[in-house]
Amino acid sequence: MSTLSQGRVVARREWNPGLFTLSVEAEVAPFVPGQFLNLGLMLDGQMVRRAYSLASAPGAHLEFYVTEVSGGALTPALVRLEPGAALWVDPKPQGFFTLDWVPPAEELWMVATGTGLGPFISMLRAGEALRRFQRVVVVHGTRHAAELAYAEEIAALAVQHPGRVARVPVVSRDPQAPDALHGRITQALATGELEERAGVAISPERSHLMLCGNPAMIDELLALLAARGLNRHRTRKPGHITVERYWD
Ligand SMILES: Cc1cc2nc3c(=O)[nH]c(=O)nc-3n(C[C@H](O)[C@H](O)[C@H](O)COP(=O)(O)OP(=O)(O)OC[C@H]3O[C@@H](n4cnc5c(N)ncnc54)[C@H](O)[C@@H]3O)c2cc1C
Repeated sequence: MSTLSQGRVVARREWNPGLFTLSVEAEVAPFVPGQFLNLGLMLDGQMVRRAYSLASAPGAHLEFYVTEVSGGALTPALVRLEPGAALWVDPKPQGFFTLDWVPPAEELWMVATGTGLGPFISMLRAGEALRRFQRVVVVHGTRHAAELAYAEEIAALAVQHPGRVARVPVVSRDPQAPDALHGRITQALATGELEERAGVAISPERSHLMLCGNPAMIDELLALLAARGLNRHRTRKPGHITVERYWD
């Protein structure tokens, strides 16, 4: 485990109670969009550290999209940090959930629940996803419409790149959510609504899917996609799906 260095919160955006983007200033090694850093705080005399994906593009202030886990060890303190507050940052980015490990495909599906959107924001901001794929579909699943963070930024990209970026919000507990599919991402895939809204079908010949966030969503999607001939991508056995689980 590498040594943590001191960083500082420079901005904090609250999307919804308990849901934040923290901008942090710290000296870290160069990272690739999709990687994560460990952030830490001294709490009751103990260092508590957890992994957080970078949502910023390389070269910008570090940005982390964080949700408060009720009763969690770190997040209740982390999301209350105000600009100017100190926190510990592991300067060494880690992880393989990056486009470097994604094989060539026509369409890239970025499928996130909650704060699992963070690494995709970094990839979109860096421009890398649009350089490599003809079309990028951004699927964001949340409980409520108010939790659809970064929606305007993704919608603006869709306007900027007509026919090349599709945004598909999926909201499970908010029947009034405007312009979103209702239910869970897995249901929307099973019913065909997801692909209909994206305007493109998922196929083993054309698609690669990156799944990030809730492990239950990931496992259910892996099973649904396996039935359609799409499997995990591994270095020794190329496939169509790359995953990042935020917890077990
Ligand atoms: C590679 C990686 C990248 C990650 N990136 C992010 C990120 O960008 N943003 C982010 O908010 N989190 C991210 N996480 C999760 C993060 O590392 C912590 O697990 C989370 O913030 C909870 O920390 P805690 O100390 O408050 O809770 P803990 O005391 O560690 O955990 C409490 C319980 O909540 C579960 N849990 C963890 N996260 C969630 C969640 N989001 N919703 C519901 N239950 C959860 C844990 O499994 C545990 O059982 C990432 C995890 C990994 C492995």
